[in-house]
Formats: sequence, structure tokens, C-alpha cells
Amino acid sequence: MAIHGKDLCPRCKTDISRRLGVITSASVNCSFCGQQVQVTRNAVLNNWQYNSLMWPFFAIWTGMAVTVLFNQDLVVALTRFLPITVDVLVAQVLGAVLCLVPAFVCAIPFALVGRFVGCLVAWQLESEGKGRPILPTAPGAVQELRSQRLRASASGKWRVA
Ligand SMILES: [Zn+2]
Repeated sequence: MAIHGKDLCPRCKTDISRRLGVITSASVNCSFCGQQVQVTRNAVLNNWQYNSLMWPFFAIWTGMAVTVLFNQDLVVALTRFLPITVDVLVAQVLGAVLCLVPAFVCAIPFALVGRFVGCLVAWQLESEGKGRPILPTAPGAVQELRSQRLRASASGKWRVA
């Protein structure tokens, strides 16, 4: 079984699937260095899954944090269950931060849906190739930096001369 690595930018080694913003084309510019990178099917799936996790996570967390921060009665009612007495403001801030955990758990089903949508997008990109695969099967299979290509051709010339 082939081990499938991450889709890394050939220049700066940034994982190109971990970006906010979905991939809808066969090549993207690296969000860190701007290098154009051919995406694989796996990168499309991972990217859609990542975005479908992160955006609902941010939205749910913001909603929960705002609810905790602006609903003092709720916080007072919840702190009654604690064995120690806590200042309401401290409890509100702590509660808002701790909402990270349930927000992340609530966002997981969205990630599964996103991976499925990513499947459809990758399939659409592959079918746009009209017989020839436009998504490479392995990361880095067809990718090299222009400087590497120039170096290779230059060394070839030197060997001939
Ligand atoms: Zn890069």
C-alpha cells in the first residue's frame, strides 16, 4: 500500500490543503510563498474537510462565547454547581474559552459533509481533464521548482559540452 504524504509546497514545504478557502481548481498558489502548486485529489478532500471543520467551529464558538459573555444569569446559575466560589467575570471569560471544546465537537459532522463535497469537487476536476488526469496521483510527482528545472538543464548542457 502506498503511503500518501501531505501535499507540500515544493518551495516552502507548507501543507497546501490547510488553508482557509476551498480549492476549486487543479492548481493553487501557496498561501505562504505564492508558488503555484498542482493539487492532488487528496489535497482537495483534505482542504474541503479542513474548511468544513474550521468555519462552523469558529461560528459555533463565537455564538457560544457571546452567549456566555453576555448572559450573566446563565453563568451565575452554572457556577452554583462548582465546589468553589468564582467571580462572575472570571467565570464568564473562562466559560467563553472553554466553549472551544464543545464547539469543536459540534463542528466534526460538518467536516464529514465537507469531505464528501470535496470528493465531488475532485471528481469534477478530474472529469474536466477529458481523459487525461489533471490531478496528479501523488504530491510532488509532477512538481518541481523552476530553479530546479533550470539547474537540471544547465548541468545537462555542461555534460554535453
Ligand atoms: Zn510555498
